Amino acid sequence: MELSYYIKTYPFEERPGYLLLYSTKKASIILLKEETCQSIEKGMLSSADEARLLKPGIIVPDRKAEKDAMRGLVNEVNAKNSGLNITVVLNLDCNFDCIYCYEGNMKGKLYMADETAGFLIDFIKGRFTHDKKFLNIDFYGGEPLLSTALIKSISREMKSFTQSRGASYTFTLITNGSLFKRKIAEDLSLLGLQSVKITIDGPAEVHNACRPFKSGAGSFDTIMGNIRETCDIVKIGIGGNFQRGNYESFPLLLDYLKKEGLTPDRISAVKFDPVMKRPEEDTAPADFIDGCMSINEPWLIKAGALLREEVLKRGYNTPKLKPMPCQVEIADSYVVNFNGVIYKCPAFIGKKGYEIGDLRDGVMDYSNSHKLGIYKNEDCLECEYLPLCFGGCRYMAYIRDGSIDNTDCKRPYFDATLETLIKQDIKYRLKTENC
Ligand code: SF4
Ligand code: SF4
Repeated sequence: MELSYYIKTYPFEERPGYLLLYSTKKASIILLKEETCQSIEKGMLSSADEARLLKPGIIVPDRKAEKDAMRGLVNEVNAKNSGLNITVVLNLDCNFDCIYCYEGNMKGKLYMADETAGFLIDFIKGRFTHDKKFLNIDFYGGEPLLSTALIKSISREMKSFTQSRGASYTFTLITNGSLFKRKIAEDLSLLGLQSVKITIDGPAEVHNACRPFKSGAGSFDTIMGNIRETCDIVKIGIGGNFQRGNYESFPLLLDYLKKEGLTPDRISAVKFDPVMKRPEEDTAPADFIDGCMSINEPWLIKAGALLREEVLKRGYNTPKLKPMPCQVEIADSYVVNFNGVIYKCPAFIGKKGYEIGDLRDGVMDYSNSHKLGIYKNEDCLECEYLPLCFGGCRYMAYIRDGSIDNTDCKRPYFDATLETLIKQDIKYRLKTENC
């Protein structure tokens, strides 16, 4: 037995004589006596320890075989995937005027036409092969609730289609929250609405300065009123976009939520992400500030870890660290723009050369254009962060190089932050196994 490639070892001051081992492949955390670690290195583990350390992925029978298996891991995940996930950008319109809005010049009265929605339904039916058990649609915008009638008609059709196959249909919304009234929540939850992600940029004053209505009026009170009146109907997650000058005020939002009775049992998750610097011509959907992107700048690393601590400290849930390839690598996952053009990731909407097809003509082979399997090189395959990174974010590579030919190496980010994130999880929510 040998130590897995995909292990990070950290000191653990609270238990002298022990080390903290984290498997990036299994997302398992183990406290191990230093002498047990030495026994692994010498190949002299007891059989009881072998049995205990094999399952959480700390040791493997053969490191070379483990590395070879990583080459095929994403294919295996794709082969076993019994779901189909479609992100639909319903419009590029919005009733807000956010200071950092990404839709720039593209924003306007651009809505998915009924004919395009018909093609979308045909596309989904065509991709929903008989082995599929569930369909999920993420409705994006602009502001998706400006297209509520379309959400309802697509959902009615998809609900009855999946039922006829003995499968299930769910959908989610990424919304600014201003139009999410109780009646809408009730209607949509009957059609399969599972969760809503609402963006709030810190306490009232900060949020209102960043995310006003088009009229210039603040939107904070409207959103909070809507969350209060809908959080018993559907799971509500809160996202927020921080900047260098305002992130320290974000914990005040968490205190406000608690004071208003929006306690951790009523809010499904909270996650704050930095406002990304994007090129002028960038037209990715509003509020696309995805957790799968990470940035190596020191202030961002500090701000991200600090805000995560504040969230966990108050008992709110936040996404766990887990192995996750870029969505581009996931076969049954597509992003459809309002005009019917298909992409692999919302960040690439509008980027020439990164379309993978359209609803009328179908999907082209994108394995070369999207550099599938970019992580299948010796550096990545022997990198302990591989299961958390898989070569990083294509979009961040694009921002950096203007192309996605090279990896977006997250090593500096993980070197600086992973130990802190794991120790936060131990402190606030994970059980550790002591060996
Ligand atoms: S390119 Fe980046 S943002 Fe897009 S799915 Fe991949 S990791 Fe996420
Ligand atoms: S891109 Fe960098 S961090 Fe990611 S797997 Fe490859 S070597 Fe590791």
